[in-house]
Amino acid sequence: MRGKLVVGNWKMNGGLAANAALLSELATGWKPAAGRELAVCAPYPYLPQVQGALAGTPIAWGAQDVSEHDAGAFTGEVSARMLAEFGCRYAIVGHSERRQYFGDTDAIVAAKAGSALATGITPIACVGETLAEREGRVTEAVVLRQLDAVLAAVGSGATRLVIAYEPVWAIGTGRTASPAEAQAVHATLRARLAKAGAVDVPLLYGGSVKADNAAALFAMADIDGGLIGGASLKAAEFLAIARA
Ligand code: PEP
Repeated sequence: MRGKLVVGNWKMNGGLAANAALLSELATGWKPAAGRELAVCAPYPYLPQVQGALAGTPIAWGAQDVSEHDAGAFTGEVSARMLAEFGCRYAIVGHSERRQYFGDTDAIVAAKAGSALATGITPIACVGETLAEREGRVTEAVVLRQLDAVLAAVGSGATRLVIAYEPVWAIGTGRTASPAEAQAVHATLRARLAKAGAVDVPLLYGGSVKADNAAALFAMADIDGGLIGGASLKAAEFLAIARA
């Protein structure tokens, strides 16, 4: 059976004092339940702090990116092996902000996913269309192109992926896909994953998920949880989403 997963993406937010308060509230407030997992993806410098606060709790953690390279002359990069040393279970790859501002192409995202998997870290591979692409009715083609690049790179590792559908027009905008719109794309992704022998991969929805819309989204047949940006910075809101 597919498990449920809610992951917080702090983006470039946080500070030692604010993180400590947030992590402590999450550790106290999250009650483990079979088949349900909560995780936070923090900026690199805070990973030791996150590890210190969450080790021994049922909450997992990860990074927001990972290098496609193993080691060497790649200034500014962080390898999967380094993330593993700080107990990361997850690494987000292909977030639309990385694709948009930092030049992460489908090929780079696929290589990053492969690099994470090779080190035992689960990549949370993001796919999603822009508003222009949605209006141009190419949503399906875009998300399948992005997914296919990852599937081709990871081969039999596909069963160890997490995929997040994040329509770019819904990220940080307060505008969310309706449950039916999100479900339609998730069903397309699920069908492609099934062909790759990975039908049970968790499929997360992301894009302005809040406590008051999470339950309706997560009730959809192919939505297994969420990737949560802004709302993951407030403990009560994030926990309410996770409980949904
Ligand atoms: C995200 O950053 O992955 C995200 C979904 O952001 P938000 O929830 O703020 O839209």
